[in-house]
Amino acid sequence: MTIATCEINPPSRLLMGAGPANVHPRVLRAMGADVIGQMDPEMTAYMDETMALYREVFQTTNHWTFLINGSARSAIEAALVSLVTPGMVVVVLNIGRFGLLLREIVTRCGGIVHSVDVPWGQVVDPADVEKALRLHKPRLVAAVHGDTSTTTAQPLEAIGALCRQYEALFYVDATATLGGMPFKTDEWHIDVATAGLQKCLAGPPGSAPITLSDRAVAAIKERRHDEGGIASGAPQGEGPVIQSNYFDLMMLMNYWSPQRMNHHTEATSMLYAAREVARLVVEEGIDARIERHRRAGEAMIAGIKAMGMRVYGDETTRMYNVTGVHVPEGIEARRIQELMRRDFEIEIVSSFGPLTGKIWRIGAMGINAQKSKVLLTLAAFESVLSGEGIPINRGAGIDAARAAWNRAGHS
Ligand SMILES: *Cc1c(COP(=O)(O)O)cnc(C)c1O
Repeated sequence: MTIATCEINPPSRLLMGAGPANVHPRVLRAMGADVIGQMDPEMTAYMDETMALYREVFQTTNHWTFLINGSARSAIEAALVSLVTPGMVVVVLNIGRFGLLLREIVTRCGGIVHSVDVPWGQVVDPADVEKALRLHKPRLVAAVHGDTSTTTAQPLEAIGALCRQYEALFYVDATATLGGMPFKTDEWHIDVATAGLQKCLAGPPGSAPITLSDRAVAAIKERRHDEGGIASGAPQGEGPVIQSNYFDLMMLMNYWSPQRMNHHTEATSMLYAAREVARLVVEEGIDARIERHRRAGEAMIAGIKAMGMRVYGDETTRMYNVTGVHVPEGIEARRIQELMRRDFEIEIVSSFGPLTGKIWRIGAMGINAQKSKVLLTLAAFESVLSGEGIPINRGAGIDAARAAWNRAGHS
Protein backbone atom coordinates (compact mmCIF):
# COMPACT_ATOMS: atom_id res chain seq x y z
CA MET A 1 0.00 0.00 0.00
CA THR A 2 1.32 3.42 -0.85
CA ILE A 3 0.99 6.24 1.62
CA ALA A 4 -0.64 9.41 0.32
CA THR A 5 2.08 12.00 0.51
CA CYS A 6 0.54 14.90 -1.34
CA GLU A 7 -2.06 17.35 -0.24
CA ILE A 8 -5.65 16.67 -1.21
CA ASN A 9 -6.47 18.36 -4.48
CA PRO A 10 -9.96 17.39 -5.65
CA PRO A 11 -11.11 18.36 -9.15
CA SER A 12 -13.49 21.30 -9.34
CA ARG A 13 -16.69 19.58 -10.37
CA LEU A 14 -20.07 21.10 -10.92
CA LEU A 15 -22.32 19.04 -8.64
CA MET A 16 -25.72 18.86 -10.35
CA GLY A 17 -26.79 15.58 -8.80
CA ALA A 18 -29.00 14.89 -5.79
CA GLY A 19 -26.53 16.27 -3.23
CA PRO A 20 -24.02 17.19 -2.11
CA ALA A 21 -24.07 20.37 -4.17
CA ASN A 22 -21.17 22.81 -4.39
CA VAL A 23 -20.42 24.69 -1.19
CA HIS A 24 -20.66 28.47 -1.02
CA PRO A 25 -17.14 30.00 -0.78
CA ARG A 26 -18.15 31.98 2.31
CA VAL A 27 -18.99 28.72 4.06
CA LEU A 28 -15.63 27.22 3.10
CA ARG A 29 -13.88 30.31 4.42
CA ALA A 30 -15.78 30.13 7.71
CA MET A 31 -14.64 26.52 8.12
CA GLY A 32 -11.04 27.63 7.83
CA ALA A 33 -11.32 29.82 10.96
CA ASP A 34 -9.36 28.81 14.03
CA VAL A 35 -10.81 26.24 16.42
CA ILE A 36 -11.56 27.51 19.93
CA GLY A 37 -12.60 25.75 23.13
CA GLN A 38 -16.17 24.53 23.35
CA MET A 39 -16.88 26.53 26.53
CA ASP A 40 -15.14 29.64 25.26
CA PRO A 41 -17.60 32.53 25.50
CA GLU A 42 -17.05 33.26 21.79
CA MET A 43 -17.96 29.68 20.96
CA THR A 44 -21.06 29.55 23.16
CA ALA A 45 -22.15 32.86 21.64
CA TYR A 46 -21.79 31.33 18.17
CA MET A 47 -23.94 28.43 19.34
CA ASP A 48 -26.68 30.80 20.53
CA GLU A 49 -26.49 32.79 17.30
CA THR A 50 -26.77 29.57 15.32
CA MET A 51 -29.94 28.63 17.22
CA ALA A 52 -31.50 32.01 16.41
CA LEU A 53 -30.48 31.78 12.73
CA TYR A 54 -32.02 28.32 12.28
CA ARG A 55 -35.30 29.48 13.79
CA GLU A 56 -35.49 31.74 10.75
CA VAL A 57 -34.50 28.98 8.35
CA PHE A 58 -37.07 26.55 9.80
CA GLN A 59 -39.66 29.35 10.14
CA THR A 60 -40.35 28.56 13.74
CA THR A 61 -40.41 30.15 17.17
CA ASN A 62 -39.26 26.84 18.75
CA HIS A 63 -36.62 27.59 21.34
CA TRP A 64 -35.01 24.19 20.83
CA THR A 65 -33.49 24.66 17.43
CA PHE A 66 -29.86 23.53 17.20
CA LEU A 67 -27.40 21.20 15.46
CA ILE A 68 -26.61 17.51 15.62
CA ASN A 69 -23.04 16.56 14.72
CA GLY A 70 -23.18 14.33 11.67
CA SER A 71 -24.80 14.16 8.25
CA ALA A 72 -28.58 14.57 7.89
CA ARG A 73 -29.19 11.01 9.00
CA SER A 74 -27.75 11.78 12.44
CA ALA A 75 -30.59 14.19 13.17
CA ILE A 76 -33.15 11.72 11.82
CA GLU A 77 -31.77 9.13 14.20
CA ALA A 78 -31.60 11.56 17.14
CA ALA A 79 -35.24 12.52 16.60
CA LEU A 80 -36.51 8.98 16.31
CA VAL A 81 -34.42 7.36 19.04
CA SER A 82 -35.49 10.13 21.43
CA LEU A 83 -39.19 9.94 20.56
CA VAL A 84 -39.90 6.28 19.81
CA THR A 85 -40.29 3.92 22.78
CA PRO A 86 -40.46 0.12 22.49
CA GLY A 87 -43.95 -0.90 21.41
CA MET A 88 -44.93 2.60 20.37
CA VAL A 89 -47.21 2.73 17.35
CA VAL A 90 -45.78 4.91 14.58
CA VAL A 91 -47.31 5.70 11.20
CA VAL A 92 -44.65 6.16 8.51
CA LEU A 93 -45.27 7.61 5.07
CA ASN A 94 -43.55 5.14 2.81
CA ILE A 95 -42.91 7.26 -0.26
CA GLY A 96 -39.37 6.52 -1.42
CA ARG A 97 -35.86 5.67 -0.32
CA PHE A 98 -35.94 7.90 2.73
CA GLY A 99 -39.40 6.71 3.74
CA LEU A 100 -37.83 3.25 3.93
CA LEU A 101 -35.07 4.69 6.10
CA LEU A 102 -37.60 6.13 8.56
CA ARG A 103 -39.31 2.76 8.75
CA GLU A 104 -36.00 1.04 9.43
CA ILE A 105 -34.94 3.41 12.19
CA VAL A 106 -38.36 3.35 13.90
CA THR A 107 -38.21 -0.46 13.86
CA ARG A 108 -34.69 -0.47 15.32
CA CYS A 109 -36.01 1.75 18.13
CA GLY A 110 -38.64 -0.90 18.90
CA GLY A 111 -41.54 1.00 17.38
CA ILE A 112 -44.43 -0.76 15.67
CA VAL A 113 -44.59 0.63 12.16
CA HIS A 114 -47.77 1.04 10.18
CA SER A 115 -46.89 2.28 6.70
CA VAL A 116 -49.01 4.40 4.46
CA ASP A 117 -47.65 3.07 1.19
CA VAL A 118 -47.41 5.41 -1.75
CA PRO A 119 -45.92 4.35 -5.10
CA TRP A 120 -42.58 6.07 -5.83
CA GLY A 121 -43.13 9.39 -7.55
CA GLN A 122 -46.64 9.95 -6.20
CA VAL A 123 -47.95 11.99 -3.30
CA VAL A 124 -49.85 10.70 -0.31
CA ASP A 125 -53.57 11.31 -0.08
CA PRO A 126 -54.16 13.00 3.30
CA ALA A 127 -57.39 10.95 3.58
CA ASP A 128 -55.21 7.81 3.76
CA VAL A 129 -53.19 9.36 6.56
CA GLU A 130 -56.40 10.18 8.41
CA LYS A 131 -57.54 6.57 7.99
CA ALA A 132 -54.25 5.37 9.50
CA LEU A 133 -54.57 7.85 12.37
CA ARG A 134 -58.08 6.59 13.15
CA LEU A 135 -57.21 2.94 12.82
CA HIS A 136 -53.81 2.71 14.52
CA LYS A 137 -53.93 5.69 16.94
CA PRO A 138 -50.18 6.37 16.60
CA ARG A 139 -48.25 8.58 19.03
CA LEU A 140 -46.05 9.67 16.13
CA VAL A 141 -46.32 10.18 12.38
CA ALA A 142 -43.03 10.26 10.46
CA ALA A 143 -42.67 11.65 6.95
CA VAL A 144 -40.20 12.93 4.40
CA HIS A 145 -41.00 16.27 2.77
CA GLY A 146 -39.15 15.98 -0.53
CA ASP A 147 -37.57 12.64 -1.27
CA THR A 148 -34.71 13.16 -3.72
CA SER A 149 -35.01 9.52 -4.81
CA THR A 150 -38.39 10.29 -6.39
CA THR A 151 -38.06 14.08 -6.98
CA THR A 152 -41.52 14.44 -5.40
CA ALA A 153 -42.65 16.68 -2.51
CA GLN A 154 -45.42 15.61 -0.11
CA PRO A 155 -48.37 17.80 0.99
CA LEU A 156 -47.35 18.25 4.62
CA GLU A 157 -49.68 21.05 5.60
CA ALA A 158 -52.78 18.87 5.52
CA ILE A 159 -51.03 16.05 7.35
CA GLY A 160 -49.75 18.34 10.10
CA ALA A 161 -53.28 19.55 10.80
CA LEU A 162 -54.51 15.94 11.00
CA CYS A 163 -51.72 15.00 13.43
CA ARG A 164 -52.81 17.83 15.73
CA GLN A 165 -56.43 16.73 15.49
CA TYR A 166 -55.58 13.10 16.38
CA GLU A 167 -52.95 14.05 18.96
CA ALA A 168 -49.98 12.47 17.26
CA LEU A 169 -46.57 14.09 17.12
CA PHE A 170 -45.39 14.90 13.59
CA TYR A 171 -41.79 14.32 12.54
CA VAL A 172 -40.51 15.50 9.12
CA ASP A 173 -37.22 14.94 7.29
CA ALA A 174 -36.74 18.19 5.39
CA THR A 175 -33.15 17.54 4.32
CA ALA A 176 -33.74 17.84 0.61
CA THR A 177 -36.09 20.81 0.62
CA LEU A 178 -35.11 23.20 3.44
CA GLY A 179 -33.97 26.46 1.85
CA GLY A 180 -35.19 25.44 -1.61
CA MET A 181 -38.94 24.89 -1.22
CA PRO A 182 -41.53 26.42 1.09
CA PHE A 183 -41.20 24.75 4.51
CA LYS A 184 -43.10 26.20 7.45
CA THR A 185 -42.48 24.30 10.65
CA ASP A 186 -44.96 26.14 12.87
CA GLU A 187 -47.65 26.89 10.31
CA TRP A 188 -47.71 23.25 9.19
CA HIS A 189 -47.86 21.91 12.79
CA ILE A 190 -44.58 20.04 12.54
CA ASP A 191 -43.26 18.97 15.94
CA VAL A 192 -39.79 17.89 14.90
CA ALA A 193 -38.02 18.76 11.66
CA THR A 194 -34.48 17.83 10.69
CA ALA A 195 -32.19 18.65 7.77
CA GLY A 196 -28.63 18.60 6.49
CA LEU A 197 -26.50 21.28 4.86
CA GLN A 198 -25.55 19.69 1.55
CA LYS A 199 -28.70 20.14 -0.51
CA CYS A 200 -30.39 23.54 -0.98
CA LEU A 201 -28.38 25.10 1.85
CA ALA A 202 -25.05 25.16 -0.03
CA GLY A 203 -23.03 23.73 2.83
CA PRO A 204 -20.99 20.54 3.22
CA PRO A 205 -22.42 17.36 4.75
CA GLY A 206 -21.59 16.91 8.43
CA SER A 207 -23.96 19.03 10.49
CA ALA A 208 -27.68 18.44 10.85
CA PRO A 209 -30.05 21.22 12.00
CA ILE A 210 -33.05 20.15 14.11
CA THR A 211 -36.03 21.95 15.64
CA LEU A 212 -38.34 20.68 18.40
CA SER A 213 -41.76 21.93 19.46
CA ASP A 214 -42.75 22.17 23.14
CA ARG A 215 -44.90 19.07 22.65
CA ALA A 216 -41.92 17.12 21.37
CA VAL A 217 -39.73 18.36 24.22
CA ALA A 218 -42.39 17.30 26.75
CA ALA A 219 -42.43 13.78 25.26
CA ILE A 220 -38.64 13.56 25.44
CA LYS A 221 -38.62 14.75 29.07
CA GLU A 222 -40.86 11.83 30.03
CA ARG A 223 -38.05 9.43 29.26
CA ARG A 224 -35.03 8.41 31.30
CA HIS A 225 -31.75 9.75 30.04
CA ASP A 226 -29.18 7.94 32.07
CA GLU A 227 -29.18 4.22 32.52
CA GLY A 228 -25.66 3.82 33.83
CA GLY A 229 -26.12 6.07 36.84
CA ILE A 230 -23.37 8.43 35.76
CA ALA A 231 -24.77 11.87 36.41
CA SER A 232 -25.74 13.32 33.07
CA GLY A 233 -27.51 16.22 34.64
CA ALA A 234 -30.57 15.43 32.60
CA PRO A 235 -33.86 15.34 34.52
CA GLN A 236 -34.99 11.72 34.70
CA GLY A 237 -38.48 10.84 33.53
CA GLU A 238 -40.34 7.59 34.23
CA GLY A 239 -40.41 6.36 30.63
CA PRO A 240 -38.06 3.88 28.98
CA VAL A 241 -34.44 4.95 28.73
CA ILE A 242 -33.34 6.48 25.42
CA GLN A 243 -31.18 3.86 23.73
CA SER A 244 -28.43 6.25 22.74
CA ASN A 245 -26.18 8.62 24.59
CA TYR A 246 -24.83 10.54 21.61
CA PHE A 247 -28.31 11.14 20.16
CA ASP A 248 -30.22 11.67 23.42
CA LEU A 249 -31.96 14.95 22.65
CA MET A 250 -32.44 15.80 26.34
CA MET A 251 -28.70 15.63 26.93
CA LEU A 252 -28.15 17.64 23.76
CA MET A 253 -30.63 20.29 24.92
CA ASN A 254 -28.76 20.53 28.21
CA TYR A 255 -25.56 21.07 26.27
CA TRP A 256 -27.15 23.78 24.13
CA SER A 257 -28.70 25.43 27.24
CA PRO A 258 -27.05 28.20 29.30
CA GLN A 259 -25.97 25.47 31.76
CA ARG A 260 -23.80 23.96 29.01
CA MET A 261 -23.90 20.50 30.60
CA ASN A 262 -20.94 18.85 28.99
CA HIS A 263 -21.87 16.17 26.48
CA HIS A 264 -19.91 15.81 23.21
CA THR A 265 -17.53 18.43 21.84
CA GLU A 266 -19.48 20.44 19.31
CA ALA A 267 -17.85 20.02 15.88
CA THR A 268 -16.40 23.51 15.84
CA SER A 269 -15.62 23.90 12.13
CA MET A 270 -19.00 22.43 11.17
CA LEU A 271 -20.72 24.86 13.50
CA TYR A 272 -18.92 27.70 11.72
CA ALA A 273 -20.15 26.24 8.43
CA ALA A 274 -23.75 25.82 9.62
CA ARG A 275 -23.81 29.35 11.02
CA GLU A 276 -22.56 30.84 7.74
CA VAL A 277 -25.03 28.72 5.76
CA ALA A 278 -27.93 30.15 7.76
CA ARG A 279 -26.55 33.69 7.53
CA LEU A 280 -26.57 33.33 3.75
CA VAL A 281 -30.20 32.18 3.80
CA VAL A 282 -31.31 35.05 6.02
CA GLU A 283 -29.33 37.56 3.97
CA GLU A 284 -30.88 36.44 0.67
CA GLY A 285 -34.32 36.09 2.24
CA ILE A 286 -36.11 32.76 2.46
CA ASP A 287 -38.74 33.64 -0.12
CA ALA A 288 -36.21 34.96 -2.64
CA ARG A 289 -34.14 31.85 -2.21
CA ILE A 290 -37.08 29.55 -2.75
CA GLU A 291 -38.09 31.55 -5.81
CA ARG A 292 -34.55 31.15 -7.19
CA HIS A 293 -34.83 27.36 -6.81
CA ARG A 294 -38.28 27.36 -8.40
CA ARG A 295 -36.97 29.34 -11.34
CA ALA A 296 -33.98 27.02 -11.80
CA GLY A 297 -36.27 23.98 -11.76
CA GLU A 298 -38.62 25.56 -14.27
CA ALA A 299 -35.75 26.40 -16.63
CA MET A 300 -34.35 22.88 -16.28
CA ILE A 301 -37.70 21.32 -17.15
CA ALA A 302 -38.23 23.62 -20.12
CA GLY A 303 -34.77 22.68 -21.40
CA ILE A 304 -35.21 18.94 -20.94
CA LYS A 305 -38.55 18.98 -22.73
CA ALA A 306 -37.39 21.16 -25.61
CA MET A 307 -34.47 18.88 -26.33
CA GLY A 308 -37.00 16.06 -26.68
CA MET A 309 -36.46 14.16 -23.43
CA ARG A 310 -39.19 13.14 -21.00
CA VAL A 311 -39.42 14.60 -17.50
CA TYR A 312 -40.21 12.12 -14.72
CA GLY A 313 -43.15 12.51 -12.34
CA ASP A 314 -46.10 14.81 -11.95
CA GLU A 315 -45.19 18.41 -12.51
CA THR A 316 -47.58 19.79 -9.93
CA THR A 317 -45.93 17.83 -7.11
CA ARG A 318 -42.29 17.77 -8.19
CA MET A 319 -39.51 19.28 -6.12
CA TYR A 320 -38.10 22.56 -7.41
CA ASN A 321 -34.51 21.56 -6.83
CA VAL A 322 -34.17 18.17 -8.49
CA THR A 323 -35.54 17.03 -11.83
CA GLY A 324 -35.97 13.44 -12.98
CA VAL A 325 -35.36 12.60 -16.64
CA HIS A 326 -36.45 9.28 -18.16
CA VAL A 327 -33.54 7.24 -19.49
CA PRO A 328 -34.42 6.21 -23.07
CA GLU A 329 -34.89 2.53 -23.82
CA GLY A 330 -31.62 0.74 -24.48
CA ILE A 331 -29.40 3.45 -23.00
CA GLU A 332 -27.15 2.72 -20.06
CA ALA A 333 -27.70 5.57 -17.60
CA ARG A 334 -24.29 5.20 -16.06
CA ARG A 335 -22.49 5.69 -19.37
CA ILE A 336 -24.07 9.13 -19.80
CA GLN A 337 -23.19 10.09 -16.21
CA GLU A 338 -19.63 8.99 -16.83
CA LEU A 339 -19.32 11.13 -19.98
CA MET A 340 -20.82 14.15 -18.21
CA ARG A 341 -18.17 13.81 -15.54
CA ARG A 342 -15.25 12.96 -17.81
CA ASP A 343 -15.83 15.51 -20.56
CA PHE A 344 -17.55 18.32 -18.68
CA GLU A 345 -16.68 17.85 -14.97
CA ILE A 346 -20.42 17.80 -14.26
CA GLU A 347 -22.00 15.32 -11.87
CA ILE A 348 -25.53 14.03 -12.47
CA VAL A 349 -26.88 10.84 -10.89
CA SER A 350 -29.45 8.10 -11.37
CA SER A 351 -31.78 6.91 -8.57
CA PHE A 352 -32.46 3.95 -6.29
CA GLY A 353 -34.75 0.94 -5.99
CA PRO A 354 -37.37 0.72 -8.74
CA LEU A 355 -35.85 3.80 -10.42
CA THR A 356 -32.26 2.51 -10.62
CA GLY A 357 -31.01 3.22 -14.14
CA LYS A 358 -34.53 4.32 -15.13
CA ILE A 359 -34.13 8.04 -14.51
CA TRP A 360 -31.35 10.56 -14.21
CA ARG A 361 -31.67 13.10 -11.45
CA ILE A 362 -30.38 16.54 -12.24
CA GLY A 363 -30.27 18.89 -9.28
CA ALA A 364 -29.98 22.66 -9.17
CA MET A 365 -29.56 23.46 -5.51
CA GLY A 366 -27.90 25.97 -3.26
CA ILE A 367 -25.40 28.04 -5.26
CA ASN A 368 -26.07 25.86 -8.30
CA ALA A 369 -29.69 27.03 -8.55
CA GLN A 370 -28.36 29.62 -10.95
CA LYS A 371 -29.01 30.41 -14.60
CA SER A 372 -25.48 29.74 -15.84
CA LYS A 373 -25.19 26.38 -14.06
CA VAL A 374 -28.52 25.19 -15.45
CA LEU A 375 -27.58 26.25 -18.99
CA LEU A 376 -24.09 24.72 -18.81
CA THR A 377 -25.54 21.45 -17.59
CA LEU A 378 -28.16 21.34 -20.33
CA ALA A 379 -25.56 22.15 -23.01
CA ALA A 380 -23.33 19.34 -21.79
CA PHE A 381 -26.26 16.94 -21.48
CA GLU A 382 -27.34 17.65 -25.07
CA SER A 383 -23.85 17.07 -26.37
CA VAL A 384 -23.41 13.80 -24.49
CA LEU A 385 -26.85 12.39 -25.37
CA SER A 386 -26.42 13.32 -29.00
CA GLY A 387 -22.92 11.83 -29.07
CA GLU A 388 -24.41 8.54 -27.89
CA GLY A 389 -26.84 8.52 -30.80
CA ILE A 390 -29.94 9.66 -28.92
CA PRO A 391 -32.04 11.90 -31.17
CA ILE A 392 -32.01 15.37 -29.63
CA ASN A 393 -33.22 18.76 -30.87
CA ARG A 394 -29.78 20.31 -30.72
CA GLY A 395 -29.69 23.78 -29.23
CA ALA A 396 -33.41 23.82 -28.46
CA GLY A 397 -32.98 22.86 -24.80
CA ILE A 398 -30.62 25.68 -23.96
CA ASP A 399 -32.71 28.25 -25.80
CA ALA A 400 -35.89 27.11 -24.09
CA ALA A 401 -34.22 27.11 -20.67
CA ARG A 402 -32.85 30.62 -21.16
CA ALA A 403 -36.25 31.84 -22.24
CA ALA A 404 -37.93 30.11 -19.30
CA TRP A 405 -35.47 31.57 -16.82
CA ASN A 406 -35.97 35.07 -18.13
CA ARG A 407 -39.75 34.63 -18.23
CA ALA A 408 -39.88 33.23 -14.70
CA GLY A 409 -38.18 36.38 -13.47
CA HIS A 410 -41.20 38.44 -14.41
CA SER A 411 -43.88 36.21 -12.91
C1 LIG B 1 -30.10 13.58 0.90
C2 LIG B 1 -31.11 13.22 1.91
C3 LIG B 1 -30.72 12.73 3.15
C4 LIG B 1 -29.25 12.58 3.37
O1 LIG B 1 -28.80 12.11 4.57
P1 LIG B 1 -27.24 12.16 4.84
O2 LIG B 1 -27.10 11.46 6.12
O3 LIG B 1 -26.82 13.59 4.90
O4 LIG B 1 -26.60 11.44 3.70
C5 LIG B 1 -31.71 12.45 4.08
N1 LIG B 1 -33.01 12.60 3.78
C6 LIG B 1 -33.41 13.08 2.58
C7 LIG B 1 -34.85 13.27 2.29
C8 LIG B 1 -32.46 13.38 1.60
O5 LIG B 1 -32.84 13.81 0.40
